[in-house]
Amino acid sequence: MIIAVDGPTASGKGTIAKALAAHFGLPHLDTGLLYRAVGRQVFLDGGDPDDGGDALAATSFPDSLLDDPHLRTEETGGLASRVSVHPAVRQALYERQRTFAMQDGGAVLDGRDIGTVIAPEAEVKLFVTASVEARGKRRFSEMRERGLDVRLTDIEADLARRDARDMNRSDAPLKPAADALIFDTTSFDRKEAIEAAIEAVEEHARRAS
Ligand code: C5P
Repeated sequence: MIIAVDGPTASGKGTIAKALAAHFGLPHLDTGLLYRAVGRQVFLDGGDPDDGGDALAATSFPDSLLDDPHLRTEETGGLASRVSVHPAVRQALYERQRTFAMQDGGAVLDGRDIGTVIAPEAEVKLFVTASVEARGKRRFSEMRERGLDVRLTDIEADLARRDARDMNRSDAPLKPAADALIFDTTSFDRKEAIEAAIEAVEEHARRAS
């Protein structure tokens, strides 16, 4: 079974994807990490993330970069969002994601275009959303817990900027697949969101059998 989990930044899609993978015993790929690695590599190369050539060159980042804690920062998230608009970058990362999705036994992938581009044949597609305010508050608490001095208004503005860039790019924009289940986590806590997602996948499996 392939499970595609798409949605905007801080919607809870990563948490949900990880929990689904653990529950159903499937391997999981956080595809945002690949774009973050490209963004980080451009930075390390001293390149320009808005330049298609510089961004494409950075797609040959070493695998060891995927373990770099800098990939998790907001700065790298912003760089990832900028390099991800280049079609050549998306193309260069396609094969790796596609191979992961098609492995025997299935997989869970989370990202922005899994249900639309990477694995349109996925049996289950969840599009996880939440209001900008709810996502901002979650990101704010996470960052405060990590001891970072951040302001809620800055975080909300950054989320809105990244949403706009991800939704308005011409290649593989962030949008739900026609057959995706829209999953709004605004009023859910973490546990409720995970339980509801597991229930949605089990319900799908019951109907399919
Ligand atoms: O999900 P995450 O915040 O780690 O993704 C970072 C950025 O990478 C996103 O803002 C988006 O621009 C890009 N991305 C993408 N397609 C994916 C995953 C991430 O364009 N499948």
